Amino acid sequence: FDMFFLAFVERLFRPTFKKDDLVLGKKLGEGAFGVVYRASLAKKPASKVPYQKEGDLVLKKATEYGAVEIWMNERVRRACANSCADFVHGFLENSSKKGAEYWLIWRYEGEATLYDLMQSKEFPYNVETMMLREVQDLPRGLERENRIIQTIMRQLLFALDGLHSTGIVHRDFKPQNIIFSEGSRTFKIIDLGAAADLRVGINYIPKEFLLDPRYAAPEQYIMSTQTPSAPSAPVATALSPVLWQMNLPDRFDIYSAGLIFLQMAFSGLRSDSALIQFNRQLKRCDFDLNAWRKSIEPRASSDLRKGFELLDLDGGIGWELLTSMVRYKAGQRISAKGALAHPYFDREGLLVLSLMQ
Ligand code: ADP
Ligand code: MG
Repeated sequence: FDMFFLAFVERLFRPTFKKDDLVLGKKLGEGAFGVVYRASLAKKPASKVPYQKEGDLVLKKATEYGAVEIWMNERVRRACANSCADFVHGFLENSSKKGAEYWLIWRYEGEATLYDLMQSKEFPYNVETMMLREVQDLPRGLERENRIIQTIMRQLLFALDGLHSTGIVHRDFKPQNIIFSEGSRTFKIIDLGAAADLRVGINYIPKEFLLDPRYAAPEQYIMSTQTPSAPSAPVATALSPVLWQMNLPDRFDIYSAGLIFLQMAFSGLRSDSALIQFNRQLKRCDFDLNAWRKSIEPRASSDLRKGFELLDLDGGIGWELLTSMVRYKAGQRISAKGALAHPYFDREGLLVLSLMQ
């Protein structure tokens, strides 16, 4: 009862938006199921909403699958608000020429995704500057890079743990879907368009939708093929906790998070083509990272050697964490909570003065 009541009260007092309240700005992205724009409120909004700064919102105009994304964002806002970009409102917009569209509105978190930041030669120092809001006048080196990467990984796992504890698997966890929030100075997850909510069985994903093969775990689909793709709610509610334990679908995201960790440690693996090549090599090694290391290390470039060196710091604790995330069998991968308790995080990270730490 109280969950429904709270949701009802929250709905009453949260500002709602209509199409005419919004002024669209620059296009930020375009996927198969929607277009994303920067947006702001019109000076004289049609409905009674407080006027905000220019361009401080993000609008996604989505196809019919937008309904699921609204559901996920509503749930996240109530259950683990800090994990994801701040969701404002979602509604069905019927007046479009293209027919019914779902409109989703978030707060504009900042201009850079983890992908953007990783493409810079300055990575990970550019992230350090954004987190601390000042340039550190310290000697550069592996120790310092490791500390920054550790801080990023902790934030990513913290956000994932929030989602997973809520019963949501993201399924499209990649640097392009991780935004640096300039307000909280932390990374937040975006794009719940492919997410599955296992506790209530909302798990449909269009047949034509392919999970990003660069970051997808080998099992590809989070649950065995016997699992109905869109089970009816009562059945799913009864089954889902069991399914969660049997198949550990959350470990799908952990594999992706492991690949992101890998890319942060190895500058030579940050480009798409290098990651695709790595995936091929790993497959040839039966998804055994240690075997991959043995095959590659003797003839490794200086870029790669630097990555191994970074992960070998403190007795190889980083390499140990990486190998416990990137494993063939989902059941053998560490959970987000388990990873946060891993000794890799025992060392103090960057002191980011934010509520999230
Ligand atoms: P899709 O991948 O389906 O096009 P996303 O939800 O990933 O849609 O958004 C596309 C892009 O828009 C992101 O990569 C990011 O650059 C930007 N973006 C999305 N949400 C936000 C937000 N809350 N704040 C700032 N930028 C955002
Ligand atoms: Mg995306």
